Amino acid sequence: MATNKVIILDIDGTLGCLVYDHPSKLTSNMEMDRVHYLQPSAYFVARSFCEWFLEFCRYFFVKVVVFSAGGKEYVDNIVSSIFPFIPDAVFSHENLDKNRLKSLDVVREEIPFAFQHNTIILEDNPEAWEPYNQENIVKVPECRFLGASSYERDDYTFANLRKWLMTQVYSSVDVRREIAAVKSLEKEQ
Ligand SMILES: [Mg+2]
Repeated sequence: MATNKVIILDIDGTLGCLVYDHPSKLTSNMEMDRVHYLQPSAYFVARSFCEWFLEFCRYFFVKVVVFSAGGKEYVDNIVSSIFPFIPDAVFSHENLDKNRLKSLDVVREEIPFAFQHNTIILEDNPEAWEPYNQENIVKVPECRFLGASSYERDDYTFANLRKWLMTQVYSSVDVRREIAAVKSLEKEQ
């Protein structure tokens, strides 16, 4: 099913979030397979449907890339904890530009195939790229661990994204068009 498209995934706030107490201490509602131990008193809680969505990305996209502003050791640790496969490239703090920004130009050095017309960036904080590549960013709501709150249990971000990718992006010739359409929908709401 692989398309000619590339996805770049942010980590914190996008794929999940860091918590400092074991989530079972905070709620009895947690699905424990979403909790990944990093080090004493640091856990990464993956967003609902994260592993399922990553598996989907593996087959849908020609390249799956991670770009986090976190330190290399932290990023490698999370990637090996939450990914069911090895991403095609992983970028971390060391790969930010002199203004501490992420950019597609850096990704293209390792993934020459990552052009503006075929690359989707999933990001809770588009300012991490600003002013670069804003047309390629799909902004997701920041993933925060709120314990047993209804917000936490009803996070369908990845389910909705998969549907959008399958229906709107699959045969797109320029993903920036589909991303712009989503943005204009959001403005109307
Ligand atoms: Mg983030």
